[in-house]
Amino acid sequence: MKNQCPYCSEPIGIASRLKYCFISTHFSIRCPHCGKTIRPLKNPLSFQRCFYAGALTAFTSFWAFIYLIKDHFWQAVLFAACISLLLTIAIAIVTIRNIEFTKDK
Ligand SMILES: [Zn+2]
Repeated sequence: MKNQCPYCSEPIGIASRLKYCFISTHFSIRCPHCGKTIRPLKNPLSFQRCFYAGALTAFTSFWAFIYLIKDHFWQAVLFAACISLLLTIAIAIVTIRNIEFTKDK
């Protein structure tokens, strides 16, 4: 089951899952209900895929702004940064929703 402790089947809170937006899935956390150590089964989204999606989004939104909206470099950079921020938030939401926990070895 997604978002559940493999020992006690209690749902893992969003605060605990949020940590995996910042740390690698190789680290384990402690279940807030039973105190046993658990870790994610696998990375919900691969780092490489997220990296390429981010680079592609920044690049296309930059040039889309230049060609379609206004020919202004710094405004285009700002626009690309905003779109990349939205993508980062979307990736974080997908990661948090799809984390699956397993027993720590
Ligand atoms: Zn537990």
